[in-house]
Amino acid sequence: MNVDEIKRVTVIGGGTMGNGICHQFALSGYKVNLIDTSQALIDRAVETIRKNMERQVKKEVITQEQMTAAMDNIRTAVDLNTARDSQLVIEAVYENLDVKLDIFRRLDAPCPPETILASNTSSLPITKLAGITHRADKFIGMHFMNPVPMMKLVELIRGIATSDETFNTIKELAIRLGKTPVEVNDYPGFIANRILMPMINEAVYALMEGVASAESIDTVMKLGMNHPMGPLTLADFIGLDVCLAIIEVLYEGYGDPKYRPCPLLRKMVQAGYLGRKTGRGFYTYQ
Ligand code: NAD
Repeated sequence: MNVDEIKRVTVIGGGTMGNGICHQFALSGYKVNLIDTSQALIDRAVETIRKNMERQVKKEVITQEQMTAAMDNIRTAVDLNTARDSQLVIEAVYENLDVKLDIFRRLDAPCPPETILASNTSSLPITKLAGITHRADKFIGMHFMNPVPMMKLVELIRGIATSDETFNTIKELAIRLGKTPVEVNDYPGFIANRILMPMINEAVYALMEGVASAESIDTVMKLGMNHPMGPLTLADFIGLDVCLAIIEVLYEGYGDPKYRPCPLLRKMVQAGYLGRKTGRGFYTYQ
């Protein structure tokens, strides 16, 4: 498929990433189908998009007219079959292999054979997800960063069978969205999380071993390495459950003890201290 043929995009999952991806496409002039499992979740996703666009209008990043046009581009549904009229489907549901496999299995039949399927997974194997479909050549990883409207990077992950045509179309599309695409091959954690998560995990080990306080560890990395956020603050922002799940994927995928998850990280997840979203992680939040 040529990039000019992509007019309508389906986004599956209206959570943190899904609503951001929908926001970015709608604002870039694409028609979007936004799908989640209930009307209540969809309403919440659309409300989040509206609030985030209002903030952009207030900051004069976009105009009121652009916002109105973008909101008009969004259509919502609970039925996966709605995806059949789109040329690209991007899945952004929970980071769970079985849930994602089930979605791609159910999408394969209703979508026309030329439709490109993409996953926003942070760490699961693109080749495995592609293998459940009959179009592994038209399957790709599109790993956006959070928050999507603000973050420039998109990791484009080539599964073992992803065709050059699919890759080049999605690369051009990412550029049209105002993003910077980076080509990555399909290995556990891709690039972003393969390098980020061991750093976060090591910071948790340093905390557990009493090398320094959370504040000190973050200050060293902010002022010493010029990182905008310390690793423990960033872990709280991402969610400690998400961090643990990704480091487990690295540990299992490479079978290398250097990726072993820190017991303190595991304990915090068991306690429900998941970071910002639960009000408590390495720091506490109001
Ligand atoms: P989230 O929990 O905020 O949202 C997931 C959404 O998917 C929910 O609204 C849920 O109702 C919906 N959903 C679940 N099953 C569904 C189904 N069968 N059909 C339709 N909708 C369904 O999760 P998130 O943080 O947005 O993460 C989504 C994906 O993006 C994950 O694969 C994650 O690893 C990846 N990711 C997350 C981040 C991040 O910082 N949060 C960054 C990059 C990539």
